[in-house]
Amino acid sequence: MKVFISVDMEGISGLVRWADVASQGIDYPKNRSLLTLDTNAAIQGAFEAGATEVVVEENHGVEDLCNVVMDEVDSRCRVVRGAGRPEATTMAALDESVGVVLLVGHHARAGSFPGIMAHTVSYGGFRAVRVAGQDCGESEIFAIRAGEVGVPVGLVTGDQVVAEQLRKRAPWVEAVEVKRALSNVAGDVIPPVRAREAIRAGARRAVERAAGGELEPYRGEPAPYEIEVDLRNAPSDAMRANLARLPEFEIRGEKTVGTLAEDMSIGFRRIAYLGYADREGTTRY
Ligand SMILES: [Zn+2]
Repeated sequence: MKVFISVDMEGISGLVRWADVASQGIDYPKNRSLLTLDTNAAIQGAFEAGATEVVVEENHGVEDLCNVVMDEVDSRCRVVRGAGRPEATTMAALDESVGVVLLVGHHARAGSFPGIMAHTVSYGGFRAVRVAGQDCGESEIFAIRAGEVGVPVGLVTGDQVVAEQLRKRAPWVEAVEVKRALSNVAGDVIPPVRAREAIRAGARRAVERAAGGELEPYRGEPAPYEIEVDLRNAPSDAMRANLARLPEFEIRGEKTVGTLAEDMSIGFRRIAYLGYADREGTTRY
């Protein structure tokens, strides 16, 4: 079975504050190693359960989506990294050939409290993202996209809040809570060395259960999806000018932008675009 691992940084064991996941942060080089070690734990568990191939795809936006330490990552995997990927950006390698999706280091959606470094796609720009009228975070977007290509999500690692949110949609998901969120920037954390044991075991169970047909691809609202993004600030003149040239977007009310997406591949790209649509003259995404 081919296993797809999406690795983000906010839900990596040991990390609680924004400076932990920004390249200027004092611990960033060390924290990249922690990210890589959580990833290795999931890779190890996947192979123990009989995975034949593991592809890791980077989801953390800093440093052009290159955070895995390449000479520390398990040599049995492949890593999809770098910005400007085709199709669903950070889900470029997620297709029908995948047997199960594992989400490592993921985080709660925008607007969550508590929820360590809770956000959806944009750090400061979005107050909320909704799909078909329901609040939706990145882990849930992955579940929707995976469901479209007929693949189940089997594991999420992060805090208790992302676990709850994803399990509301996909109750069969294994959740490894490597920390308990106390606020958006504080947590009650177990040492990463212990968290990695739990991640390895969780990944192994997820892949075993996927192989046994126990996990379902998520089927929520059918496509096309009505997507709405509540911006933190009213759109700037530059953003209004850009969106005026893109008829697929509609400004609704003071701070909300809506779009109807035929699938979550294009839906995810459009959500991401709204994070930088205030750059003058930027209408490509
Ligand atoms: Zn991230």
